[in-house]
Order: sequence, then structure tokens, then C-alpha cells
Amino acid sequence: MIIVMSTGATEKQIKSVIDKVHSYGLRTHPIYGVRKTVIGVIGDNKTVVVESMSGMPGVESIIPILQPYKFAGREAHPDDSVIELDGVRIGGREVVVIAGPCAVEGREQLMGIARRVKKSGASLLRGGAYKPRTSPYSFQGLGEEALKLLAEAREETGLLVITEVTDPRNVDLVGQYADILQVGARNMQNFVLLTEVGMSGHPVMLKRGPSSTITDLLLAAEYVIIEGNRDIILCERGITTFESYTRNTLDLSAVPAIKHVSHLPVVVDPSHATGKSHLVEPMCLAAIASGADGLMVEVHPDPDQALCDGPQALTLDGFDRMMDKIKAIADIVGREI
Ligand code: PEP
Ligand code: MN
Repeated sequence: MIIVMSTGATEKQIKSVIDKVHSYGLRTHPIYGVRKTVIGVIGDNKTVVVESMSGMPGVESIIPILQPYKFAGREAHPDDSVIELDGVRIGGREVVVIAGPCAVEGREQLMGIARRVKKSGASLLRGGAYKPRTSPYSFQGLGEEALKLLAEAREETGLLVITEVTDPRNVDLVGQYADILQVGARNMQNFVLLTEVGMSGHPVMLKRGPSSTITDLLLAAEYVIIEGNRDIILCERGITTFESYTRNTLDLSAVPAIKHVSHLPVVVDPSHATGKSHLVEPMCLAAIASGADGLMVEVHPDPDQALCDGPQALTLDGFDRMMDKIKAIADIVGREI
């Protein structure tokens, strides 16, 4: 349920409405817009009582929200959300490209990749410092050393940095180095982590869990939003199906489907979706044609030697060729890179 205050409603009127809602044992989430203040009401089964507040001074209307996600949905926010970060806009006309290795392996590897992807037109650098690996014996990432290298790469190239945070206890640490915090597919429903990144003040990219529906994804986003953090990017990275040729099945229809019901930007990650480097470029082209606001692509100077996810990594030249092609598709669909 959303309470829309009329233009010119006073602070006192807004406060009385909020106090009244609290008196029913419900929580509020006010959004102070330029012209209007909108108060989200969080809690169940009090629809009738809240509706009875429609006569309070300053209240313009009370809109019930039918979707289970209250703030991630278009009902609460009809316009697309655009996240602006040091000159990079995510969710606008521009298509952002996030590129980098699966895992940060060392200075030479990361700097070499960062310089090349920047030259090819990427605007964000990815690189795992804490890797969520299926086996505890696989490379787990370089931790804080990797975070420092990512920050160094940003310093030199101007690329913004996104990296995954896997543990609620590390949110502050990762936030000291990264511009965007990534919540990985395996942690999409780690509600403690979602709450922590929600309180961090950093934009968050939330990856869809391999067995999660679009509604599950949007409800996970809701955990972040209700902590006051509305800078959320959603990422489609493939879901589990019976198909075994690919690592996951890229659910491309999720892009227009999510954009139909939600105002949040959507990025597609064809690397984890397909697990095969020869499928990455065609799926990048298709993702842009389907309306994605960005791409996340794994690249490595020598994929055969990569410590993680080599088979799905593009080479630096392959990434460069792919960028030329996606610029052409972006142009056709009225977007720019
Ligand atoms: C990643 O992007 O590094 C990653 C581990 O992806 P996912 O969480 O989608 O598996
Ligand atoms: Mn990976």
C-alpha cells in the first residue's frame, strides 16, 4: 500500500500520517520526491485501517499495491530507475558493459585486462576477490589483496569497480574498495547479506539465483530496498533446466518480463549463463536486442590458464570484436554504448 501525499503537504502533515501508520503496528518507508512525498506502508492485513486514513489532511490518495514486491515494482515507481555513478548511468539510454576476469589472479593479469577492456569501451571492471566455489578445494580468491588491486585498476583506468561480497561480515570491507557490491546467484536469498548490503549505502547488483523465479528475484531486491537502498541492478545469469549443453539456460525473456513489472535496471551475464565462450558473443547481441541495460562479460588474457571459469572467458581480442558488434545492435534498438 502506498500513501500519496498531495503536492504542498506540510512536514507536519507527513509526520502525522507516518505516526498514525506506526500506531497500527505497521512500518513506513517514505520517499521524498521533488514534488510529492510518497509513504510506503509495510506490513500485512491492515488494508482497511490504512484506507480509513484517506481523509487525513495532506493525503491525496491511497493506492493498494497488488504485486508482492512493493517498491521494486512499477506500481510504486512507473519510470525506469537510472543509477548515476561517477558519470556512468545504468538504466538510461546507455548500455553499460561490465568486463573483467572471473577472479582477480594478480596485478599483471588484472591491469592488463583493465587497460584493454577500457580501450574497447567497457565502463566497469569486474573481478572476484571472494569466490563462491562449489568445491572447497578450488581457488577461493585473493580476498583483500584482490580488492586493493581492483582499486588500483580503477585509479589507473577510471573504470568503476564491481565485485562480489559473499559474507555479511565483509560488506564494510568490500565497500571500502568497490563502487558496486555484487550479490551472487548462490546468495540471492541470503537475507542477512541482503539486509547488510541494503544498509551499506552502495549500489548493489543482485544476480538471479539458478532456481529462482522472477518474483523471487524481485522479492530479494525488496529486502535491499526496505533498508533505504534503491540503487539496485538486477542480473539475469541463467537458470537451471534439464539442458546440459550449456552451464545454465539463459532466460532472455526475463529481461523484457522484469522490465515490464519493475523499474530496476537489468544486466545480462552470458558468461555464467552459457559457460561456453563461443556462445557469449551471440547471447550478448541477443541480450541488447531484448532490452538489457547492460552486460557482464568474463574476459581473460589466457583462458586456458584461468584459475576460475576459463571455458567461458572471452580473450581480450574476442572481447574487442564483440564490442564492435554490440555497438551496432545497440544503435538499431535506439541505445548507445
Ligand atoms: C560471478 O559473477 O563471479 C559469479 C560467481 O556469478 P554467479 O553468482 O552468477 O554464479
Ligand atoms: Mn565466473
